[in-house]
Formats: sequence, C-alpha cells, structure tokens
Amino acid sequence: MSINHVMIIGAGTMGNGIAHIFAQNGYRVTIVDVDEGRIEAGIQTISANMDRQVNKGILKAKQKTEAMGRIHKSTDLKSSVPECDLIIEAATENFGVKADLFRTLDASAKKNAILATNTSSISITRLAGVTERPDKVIGMHFFNPVPVMKLVEIVRGIDTSNKTYKTIKELSEALGKTPVEVNDSAGFVSNRVLMPMINEAIFCLHEGVATPENIDSVMKLGMAHPMGPLALADFIGLDVCLFIMEVLQNDLGDDKYRPCPLLRRMVDAGHLGRKTGRGFYDYSK
Ligand code: NAD
Repeated sequence: MSINHVMIIGAGTMGNGIAHIFAQNGYRVTIVDVDEGRIEAGIQTISANMDRQVNKGILKAKQKTEAMGRIHKSTDLKSSVPECDLIIEAATENFGVKADLFRTLDASAKKNAILATNTSSISITRLAGVTERPDKVIGMHFFNPVPVMKLVEIVRGIDTSNKTYKTIKELSEALGKTPVEVNDSAGFVSNRVLMPMINEAIFCLHEGVATPENIDSVMKLGMAHPMGPLALADFIGLDVCLFIMEVLQNDLGDDKYRPCPLLRRMVDAGHLGRKTGRGFYDYSK
C-alpha cells in the first residue's frame, strides 16, 4: 500500500526524531502527544536538528522550510487518525499505555492502515492481540538519535503479514535506513543484549567497583564502544532502561535480568538522565 500520511504518537526523545526523518523524506506527518508542551519542545528540537543539517550541507535551507511545513500537531488522537496510512506509536514504554492506544487506534484508523510501535521491549504479538488487525501490527524500532542512526529493527508478531512486513521494510529503506528483521521476543535483539550490559555497569557503580567515569572509560577504551554504558543510559533515559529490564525479567522469567536497585532509586528520585538534567552525570550546565 502507499504511505503518504504518517502519525507519530509521542513527541519525546524518539517521537520527534521519527517525525523529523519522515518530514525530511517528503511524508506528511502529524505528531500527537497528551502533553502540548512536549509537542512544542519536540518541534523545536526538530527545527534545531534540521538547522544543524543545513549547516553541515546535508539539507538546503529551502528543504528545511518545506519539511517543517509538512509537520502538523495535535493533542486529539481520534480526530487525526482516520486520515493516516501508518501510525507509529512512540509513547511511554508501558504495556497499559500502549494497549489503550492500540485499542483506540484500531477503532478509529482506516481499515488498511498499519499500526506500528517503536517499543524497545514489549511483545508485538501481545499488542496486536488487543486489536482486530493483528496482521497489520508490527514493530518498527528506531534508534536514538533517529536522524543519525542507520538501524531499524523490524519486529514481526506471530500474525504480522508478509505484506505488512514488506511495506515497512521498503519504507525503512526509502528513509535511508537499514532494516533488520527479528522475531518477537522480549527486548528483541538490541535490548536483549544491550540492557543487561547497562544494568551490569550500574551494579558495578552500586557495589563501588569503580566511579561512573572509570566504568565508562573501561568500556570505551577497552571495548571500543563509542559511548560508555552509563553515559548511554543517561542518553536513553533511566526510566526507559528500567521499563525494559522489567519486561526482560517478567517475560523471560529469569532473575539474571533483575534491575539494579540503584537504577530503581535514580528513577524514583526523578533523575532520568539527560532529559531531566541529571542521571549518572550532571547535565544542568
Ligand atoms: P519519552 O519519555 O521521551 O517520550 C514519551 C512521550 O509519550 C511523552 O512526550 C509523553 O507525553 C507521551 N505520551 C505518553 N502517553 C501518551 C498517550 N497516551 N498519548 C500520546 N502521547 C503519550 O520516551 P522516549 O524515549 O521517546 O520513548 C518512546 C518509546 O520509544 C518507548 O516505547 C521507548 O521504549 C522507545 N525507544 C526509546 C529509545 C531511547 O533511546 N529513548 C530508543 C528506541 C526506542
């Protein structure tokens, strides 16, 4: 099917990046969030990131103006959904929040519209199960920062059709991304491998094995990681990391995925990383 109008739900870290690349590539985009302030902040972030692309010669100033003109905003999900061919949900990593959204989307979207989710860990099959169109539900997992990172992990639920998969694969390629197909399992491949490593780095800090700087230096200098695990956790958002560890522990039923108590404490204190100005490092300046 042809995709022209894309709705992005959630204007946070990921939602604004996803909206950015669709608008840049000529698609009409509607960003929806329950919080109008997050939409405004998201649109400002897109504009600032496109300015950076203009300065680097990746975009022309006229292309930026045209791309920004393709972005529309709304806090009213139901009124905008019927016009959209593809809806990408990038709201908070919580099954209840996403299931409510998928029920609403299923009831209001066009019959042939695809419902995609950018979830980091939640089962696509479980989300598809709350809809009457499980063949048109798929995981489209982008990486942060979306305009820069090449990978899209495409996650097939049990009933995702070949037609839906093919549409999303070709669309990802049209956006300049490299799609990689994975089956539906908690955390998929990316977070099944990454999050336990981040959690273990937090345990090292919790047990006084080393300072945050030294933990990150070991992984950068010794393992050639471009970013240390604690800096990466701050970049991802500590609440998102905790949600993912909880999904891994519950769905895979193995205590080796137990979230570190220090991660829980940081989230309880509201120190969520870059987005709140404080995580394992201080970003207030
Ligand atoms: P975020 O906290 O930055 O943004 C989430 C946004 O969703 C907020 O603006 C919030 O107001 C909005 N929201 C919550 N409930 C809503 C609802 N019912 N309707 C509309 N909007 C709603 O989170 P994020 O980091 O952008 O993560 C979004 C999704 O992307 C999560 O599923 C996360 O697991 C996934 N993800 C995150 C990363 C990352 O690096 N942060 C990477 C890949 C995937």
